[in-house]
Parts: sequence; structure tokens; C-alpha cells
Amino acid sequence: MTDDVRTIQSSLYRAATSTFDFDKPSEALSELLAMASELTESERSALFEFDEAESGFTPRVAEGIAVGDLGRLSSTSEHPVLREVLASHRAVTTDGTAGSMGLPLAPGSVACAPCFTGGKTFGLMFIANDRGDAYTEDDLSTLEVLAARAAEVLAYARQTASQNYLFHKLSLLYQASHAITGTRDRDEAIRQMAAHMLKASSATICEVQVLEDGMEHTRRFQQPLGQSVPHTIVSDGPIKVLDYPIHDQVLNELMPATISLQPPVGSGEDLARLQSEGYTAAAIFPLAAGSEPLGLVRILYDQPGRQIGEQEMELTQAIVNIGAIGLQDAIHLETAESRASQLQVLSEIGREMTSTLDLEAALENSMKYAQEMLQAEACVLFLMDDEGKELVLKASGGRFMRVKDVAIRLEEGIAGWVARNKAPLIVNDVRTNPLYQSAIDAQTGMLTASVLCVPLEARGEIMGVIEAINHPRAAFAKTDQQMLSSVASWAAIALDNANLFQSVTEERRRLEATLVETADAVVLTTLSGRITLINKAAGQAFRINAEKALGRPADDIFFGHPLGDALMSQSIELPTTLEVTTPHDRTLYATISEVPDVGRVAVMQDITALKQIDKMRAQLLGTAAHDLKNPLNAIRLGADLLADAPFSEQQRKALSMMHRATDSMTNLITGLLETIRVESTANILFEPTNLNDLIRRAIEDLRPLSDAQNHTVRYDPPEESLLIMGDPNRLNSVMSNILSNAIKYTEPGGLIIVTATWDDDEAIVSVKDNGPGIPEEELPRVFEHLFRGRAAVRDPNNPIDGTGLGLALAKTVIEQHGGRIWVESEEGEGSTFRFALPREAIPKTGSLKPDEKR
Ligand code: ADP
Repeated sequence: MTDDVRTIQSSLYRAATSTFDFDKPSEALSELLAMASELTESERSALFEFDEAESGFTPRVAEGIAVGDLGRLSSTSEHPVLREVLASHRAVTTDGTAGSMGLPLAPGSVACAPCFTGGKTFGLMFIANDRGDAYTEDDLSTLEVLAARAAEVLAYARQTASQNYLFHKLSLLYQASHAITGTRDRDEAIRQMAAHMLKASSATICEVQVLEDGMEHTRRFQQPLGQSVPHTIVSDGPIKVLDYPIHDQVLNELMPATISLQPPVGSGEDLARLQSEGYTAAAIFPLAAGSEPLGLVRILYDQPGRQIGEQEMELTQAIVNIGAIGLQDAIHLETAESRASQLQVLSEIGREMTSTLDLEAALENSMKYAQEMLQAEACVLFLMDDEGKELVLKASGGRFMRVKDVAIRLEEGIAGWVARNKAPLIVNDVRTNPLYQSAIDAQTGMLTASVLCVPLEARGEIMGVIEAINHPRAAFAKTDQQMLSSVASWAAIALDNANLFQSVTEERRRLEATLVETADAVVLTTLSGRITLINKAAGQAFRINAEKALGRPADDIFFGHPLGDALMSQSIELPTTLEVTTPHDRTLYATISEVPDVGRVAVMQDITALKQIDKMRAQLLGTAAHDLKNPLNAIRLGADLLADAPFSEQQRKALSMMHRATDSMTNLITGLLETIRVESTANILFEPTNLNDLIRRAIEDLRPLSDAQNHTVRYDPPEESLLIMGDPNRLNSVMSNILSNAIKYTEPGGLIIVTATWDDDEAIVSVKDNGPGIPEEELPRVFEHLFRGRAAVRDPNNPIDGTGLGLALAKTVIEQHGGRIWVESEEGEGSTFRFALPREAIPKTGSLKPDEKR
């Protein structure tokens, strides 16, 4: 083995086995270059690293020359040596002549080897000497090996760099997402996004432009050098951003874009604007959640020649994306929160409207709430007037001149339209709407721009309208309309309730006034018999303190008095009437009836005066009748004495007329006295009475009369005994009256049939004759006092005896027993008189004093 060969082998061996600290790539590369210079005896050496982004080679380390003196190499260089090196992946040398021109490290002999490993070129290694002769094959082999080692170092360095970058990117994204999505506040989300954008890009300024309700709000963020996220400076208030054509493009395409002055990227117009703003480069990102653009984010640089790398764009776009989500979440949350607070306001309005009876205050408050909820400039409520011709302003909320009772005619304006059509209406630009009338503005001193108007309806009837005036930003929306409609529903309920309440109160007041002031005594109880009203007259009549009696049981207040019973007892059938006596000995005629769902009411008329008149009348009649009887008796006696006197035929006729006249007068007087006696209920008896016996007795008593007329009187008594409660004497006179009429008025030889039956709860007695019958027009009158019909005077010369009092008396007695009496008759066909008596007679009237009851 020659020395040469040994040297070569040893240099190759050193090149292949030398160890480097891969974690310090620059040092490793310097060592490799030093070794290359040494082993190939070169004066200069350099290492260029391949830069993918630039698609060229950048000088990285050099020996015997300053890196700064070396320029970049294009990967598409036309130099034959470079072309060959890149194509063959082998080391190539020049021969020190003109061939080295255009290569780094020239002049002299220059050799170049590719830093090639894993099928990829990571850089180029150059060596050069000024000796002038080409490098030997051995030198080239050594260079190739060293270049391959450099390739490994570069590959490793690049790998760790990209891993570092990835780690850096991930941690920044993590921080950004944590900070942005962690906040629930829209402004904070924007601030965090901007701060992380600045951190990720090292740009000077970050601007965030958010579109809101069709308006742009831009804020500018700046991060002082070397400061962390929390120190980001925010511009005061919104700023105006110049109109860059690129901005529209980014918004439309939702794709980011960059512009820069050096090298020039972007349209002339965009660059002119950028320059005028004093920046050198800008990246513009769409701020979009899904396909919905929320705004724009710009990062601006002012370092000269600054370019924005791909990775930088990638990272910042990722932060913008996180920002968009955070922003959208915050907006959603705000909407949800405002929705929730609106619902709360609505429920507050509902509570207010249903819990208060002060309608005016309730409406006023509801307008205030509605105005706050919709953030309108004002909310006003118009009510239809009674005639349905005008809408009158009744309540308002917000910054509104409080002009109450301003009226709009129903044919006019937006409110009129809504009331007439019973439909809501949104007019977002009143000036262009023909319905708008500026007259109302003149009255209120307000400038209307937009109006939301909803009808106020209850049970299909329009009651008025509610208007929200001037949306805070731009336009009223459907959701606002829904909100205001809900307010309107509540207001309508409140109005309806108030109307109902008012009419009920008025009605009640009227009724109460009538009840309280009426001369009749009135007592009202609940269903359970507790006093709810004792009017003035009742209070005075019964010496009761009406107020203290309220709520107490009726039988407590009217203790031991029939009224207490009548108002509380469950066994009494209502309505019923009752004569009651007051502590002042006044007689009241009480009617007690049931008032459905309320209770019972007793209405009592003071009949003391009537009673007295009645008493006086009876007394007068009694005295007169009694006083008449004596002279009559004297006349009768005188006439009897004259019977035997020797009178002429004419005188005798006159005497007989006197007889008849005195008889008839005596009958009348007896009848009157009987009527007076019977009509007084004071001494009526109620004892078990057998109707059967009563009928038989009457038939027997009148037998001489019926026999004299040749009548047949038939009576088939029923098997069971007809026992009722009653006054036997009075009932006997009833039976005698009816039967004697049948005998009296029927032609001789007639047939009279008496029957008695039980019908349900009552006994019915009938007396049927085949006499002349009663003309139809007389039927309603036969029970009147002193009424005498055609049957009685059929023969004017020989009228049938009678007073016209018999049936009236019968009616009184039957009714005193709680029964009824009636007649069925047809002229020429005979008559049937019937009366019915309850099995247990209920007295129709009763004069009961409290102390008499016990
Ligand atoms: P009076 O019999 O004394 O006239 P009432 O009161 O008993 O008085 O009768 C009133 C009238 O009713 C009688 O005058 C008679 O016209 C008519 N009337 C009563 N009973 C009968 C009867 N059974 N048939 C026809 N008319 C009768």
C-alpha cells in the first residue's frame, strides 16, 4: 500500500467515521467544512443549504471566506457543474480555468458535492484552491462522503426544526383556543384572538373588523415589543379602515390573502393604500364561522422587505378560525342571554298585568318594560275610544314626550291600519311608507324612523294597538314583533280583566245600593247560611248591627226566629213566603228564595199597615153587621107579628116581600160575619181530619134540600180513609157550600156525584152536577167575593137565594190549608167543582212571633 493510497484511505475513513454533535448543527457543519478543507488541502470551503420556500441554496457555513460574501444560488442555475452535481448526485470539479466562473469560491479550482441523503438533496458543499489544477478523484470521493455527512446533519437539523415549529405551533394554538373559547364575552374573544395573532406572526398591528347588523366595527390591536399577550394595546373606540379591493375579495371568497411592497405582491391599488398607511406587508383573513362571514382580520407589518411565510399564514389562519368560533359562541350566548332576559321581562309584564288592578300603572309599566326589552326609542299604547273612531294614546315608555290622550283617527296612519286589519306591521323606513303620517311626530316632538305595530285584541275584538318606535340600530325584525305581540296579549288580558272587573264592580255597587237603600228589608246569606248582607231596612226592623252580623250564621243572628230557620234549614222547600213579626211588633211579609251559587235571600215587606187596615175593616164590618142584625131582627119580628093581621091581598104580598128581604139581609150579614171570621187565620186549627166523614156529614146535612129537589146525590167513598191535617169546621163549610150550590143551581131531578181520591201527595174531592153549567166568561170570577152569576138570576122574578160569598170563602179556606180549588164547567153541560188538599197541610201564612215559636 503506497503512502498516497494510505492517505486517501485514512482521509476517507476520517470523513466517514468522524462524530458530530447533531444537536449543534452549525458546529457540526463547521467541523465538516474544516475537515473538507484539511483533507482536500483546499483554501476555501462553504456549505449551502437548500431552501424549499425559495427554491435555492443559501450559504450557511464557510471556511476561508465570510458567509456574507457568498450569494444565494438558484436551484435552476444553468451552471454546467451545478447541473451535473444535481443530476448525478456526484462530486464534480473544475480544472481551475474559466470553468469555475459563476461558482461560489471561484476563481481557482472549485469542486462541488451534493449533500445528498435519503434520495434528497439538502445542500451543496464547495471546496476551492488556488493551485489551478483540478481536484483528484480521491478528493472528490472524500468531498462526497463529507457532503453526505453534512446532508445527515442538515436533515436532522431540519427535522428537529420542524418538530420544534410544530410544538411551538401546537402550544400557541392551544393557548389561543383556551383563551378565546374560554371567554363568553365577545370583546374579550376578539382581544384574545388579536393578541395571539400578534404573538404568532410578530406583526406590528392586528385589526379585527366585525360586521354587526350590517355595520362594521373595527378595533386595532398592537403588542409592544417583547410583551406578552395581556399587554396588548387596544385602540380607543372603533377606527375607520381604508377600502382595500383585496378586502372585498377575501370576504367574498372567504380565502386569506397577502400583500407586500417588497417584493411587490397584490394589486397596485392595494399596495398604494398599504403604503399610504405606512405598512410594508399585510395578511388579510376572513373571519367566518362556516360559510357565514362575521368580519375580517388583518395583520400588518412595518419591517422593510418583510414577507409572510406559508407557515406563518397557516398558523395565523388557524387562530382566526378559533377566533371566529369563539366570537360566534359569544354572540350566540349573548342572543340566548338577551332572549332569556326578554322572556324574563315578558313574564314580569305578565305578572304585573295580572296582579294589579291599577290598570293605568300596569299599562304604563308594561310599556316601559317593552321599550327596554326591544331597546326601541319608545313604546306607546293606543286604546280605541268608546265609539270605535279614534285611537287614543294611553301609556308610553321610553324617551318619549309624555303626551297623553293624543288621538289618531282610525282611518289614519300605521296604527289605524293595524287596528283596522287586526294584523301586525313592521315599517322600517317610514318616509317611504304611504301610511306614515308626520302629524303625530309633530305632537310628540319625536322623529319616527322605524315602527313596529301590533294589534291589541281580546276575544276577537280590537281594543287598540301597541307601537314600538325607532329600532336602536337599524330594523325591527320578526322576533321583535313576536315579543311585542306577547306584550300586547298580556295588555289585552289586563284590559279585558279590568273592563270585566269594572262592570262587575259597577253592577255590584248598583245592586248593593239598591238592596241597601230599598225600603224592603233584605237579608242575604251564603250557601252555608252565613250572612253576607243585611240592608238598612232589615237592620232597623230587627235591631241588628249589620256590620257585626256579617259572616255569622243566620240562625245565630235570627236566633229562635222563623227567619233564621227559613234561611238555614235544609228541609224547607224554596221559594216560600212567611209572615214574620219584628221586635217592634211590625209584621213583615217575607219571601225566601234561593239564589243559585250565592245562597238564600229573604225579601221582606212591611205589611203592618195593611194588617191594621184589614183588622179595622173586619172590626168595622163585624160591628156594622152586628149592629144591623138587631134592627133586622126587630123588623123580622114585627113582620111575623103582622102575619095574622087582616090584610088585603096586596098588603099580604108586601108583607111576604118584607119577609124575604129581611131573610136575604140576614143571610148576607151572616155570610159577611162568617167571611170575616174565616179570613182571620188567627184561630185556624190543624188537626187530623177525615175527609170521608166530612163529605158524608155534608151530604146528610143537606139531604132535606136535595130531597126537596128530587136530586140523586151519589158518593162512593174510597176504601182507605182520607186523613189530612186541617180545620174540620172550616173544611165542612167548604164542602157544604159547594154541595149546596150543586143542589141549588141544578134543575129538580138532577144527578150529583161526589168523589174523593188520593192523587200523589194530595186528596182531591170533586162535586159534579148536571145543572146549567157556568158560562165561560164567568169562570174566572166565580171565586170572587160577592160575585153572583147568571145561574143565580135565571128567573129574574124568582132569583135563587145566595150572597156570592160561598165560593170566595171556600177558596180562602182551601188556600189556608195549602190546597187549591178550581172548577170545570160548560154551559148546559153541568159543572164540576174540585179541591185538592195536601196530605200534610202546610199553612200558607203564619203569624209567628219569636217568643211564640217556642
Ligand atoms: P151564591 O151561590 O151565593 O150566589 P157562590 O159564591 O156560592 O154564591 O157562587 C157564585 C156563583 O157561581 C153563583 O152565583 C153561580 O152563578 C155560580 N155557581 C156556583 N155553583 C154553581 C153550580 N153548581 N152550577 C152553576 N153555577 C154555579
